[in-house]
Amino acid sequence: MKKINVAIDGYSSCGKSTLAKDLAKSLGYLYIDSGAMYRAVTLYFIQNDTNIESETDVLDALNHIDIDFSVTPDGKFTLLNGVNVEAEIRKMSVSDRVSEISAIPSIRKKMVEQQKKLASAKGVVMDGRDIGTVVIKDAELKLFLTAEPDIRAKRRFDELKNANIDIDIESIKANLLSRDKIDSSREDSPLMRAPDAILLDNSHMSREEQHGFVLHLIEKKLLD
Ligand code: C5P
Repeated sequence: MKKINVAIDGYSSCGKSTLAKDLAKSLGYLYIDSGAMYRAVTLYFIQNDTNIESETDVLDALNHIDIDFSVTPDGKFTLLNGVNVEAEIRKMSVSDRVSEISAIPSIRKKMVEQQKKLASAKGVVMDGRDIGTVVIKDAELKLFLTAEPDIRAKRRFDELKNANIDIDIESIKANLLSRDKIDSSREDSPLMRAPDAILLDNSHMSREEQHGFVLHLIEKKLLD
């Protein structure tokens, strides 16, 4: 059966991963959370006090980093050197540093290589910031998600609350806006809408509405 790749980019906390997970489940595709990879690198750098001003230190750290995903009936877990870091990488200590660290070209190069390999067999839904512009430039369907900042902050707040992470909504909003700014203005593969990406503002769409809308687009692509 024909398989396609779906690239989902957009601002922080726009529901990209929720949509990507739902689509992958409906289609039996592989879901790749590229943000989790940058978060895992960031966690390693924090744990090892890596000096990001030193290219040698950064390259040395990258040689000691192996990122993988484990898929179990309980969900998807990000593995950093074989250790499940899924909960750790969602903490604010990582969110506060991740955009600065993922702007470093040698880090992006390594992550993008791995992401391209994962997408090469098709049947992948990948979300991130440079998926439609760099990682899967030939994706059959590209989406660029956006939503109002207050709505995004509330969604992230609820998500973190569910994970028992205690943080106020204003700090979350400030972090989202600051990451958007760094991600959109970095020199290496900044966050931007690919010319052929469909813009989707999901501020007032339910999870189910959005899923149904995109699934319909995919069904059309599969008939092409
Ligand atoms: O998707 P998530 O919000 O978890 O991503 C965390 C951060 O990782 C983003 O704010 C961005 O700095 C970085 N990122 C990136 N390129 C991607 C995915 C994420 O630079 N493809």
